[in-house]
Amino acid sequence: MKIAMFNDFNPGIVRDDRIYDIVESVPWNSEKPQESLLHIIENFDELKPKIEESLSYSKSYSLSEVRLDPPVPQPGKIVAAPVNYYLHQDEMNEQFNNAEYTIENLGFFLKAPSSIIGPSDTIELPFKNRRTDHEAELAFVVGKKAKDVPASEASDYIFGYFALMDITVRGKEDRPWRKSFDTFTPIGPWIVTSDEIGNPNELGFKLWVNEELRQSANTKDLIYDCYEFFEAASKVMTLEPGDIVTTGTPEGVGPITKDDQVRIQIDRVGEFSVSVDYKKEAIKA
Ligand code: MN
Repeated sequence: MKIAMFNDFNPGIVRDDRIYDIVESVPWNSEKPQESLLHIIENFDELKPKIEESLSYSKSYSLSEVRLDPPVPQPGKIVAAPVNYYLHQDEMNEQFNNAEYTIENLGFFLKAPSSIIGPSDTIELPFKNRRTDHEAELAFVVGKKAKDVPASEASDYIFGYFALMDITVRGKEDRPWRKSFDTFTPIGPWIVTSDEIGNPNELGFKLWVNEELRQSANTKDLIYDCYEFFEAASKVMTLEPGDIVTTGTPEGVGPITKDDQVRIQIDRVGEFSVSVDYKKEAIKA
């Protein structure tokens, strides 16, 4: 099932190129979309048949006529993997001499939840003269409270998957600073529940800037795959329902600038594109 939010946080189910408004069939408060989503996540087994049944009479729209909101609007935290593909490790070493950038040596980091934007929004660059990169990533939303969960059981704790761009200012500051500016975490286009994804560790994905293909990879090349990263993260901190975990980016990261269109596509998940602009008070630094 593809669970979306649209037109100011109404709940929707996506099938083919249509979105079905399910506001009548689930308890929902558009003023509290994260709380409302949590209710769906925590009661999904019971709600799923009701939602499916309701699609035959729900109001629906063409996807092209709605504005999609971020599908996980206010997670408690965003847990993010640093370098997690071998070829990206090589590229970071060559360009930035970051040999130590691996989960094994560095662990992982948190991005500010306030950096989230949706698939119809705009990345706002805070600096005119500092390199700011795209990073295409497969991310997931946690479905059940998790602590010390082994990789072999992690799939039971993952509610669903989506595409995430981990926008990053390059430089010497700590990663949470460089990656947490407002608008630096576009996510979307919707959550695809785990049952529809099957094995998340064999998904092809791509990222384009304008017409140029910049990143093309497969999650089978992850150093810590989705489940192993889940184990590593839940060893350190309790993962709560609604938290986001993002798995790291492959090779091909590169700069974005004003007026670019950045498009991400993941097999069995979907695609979206966001535009890029300078923040109003963008500074030269
Ligand atoms: Mn990243």
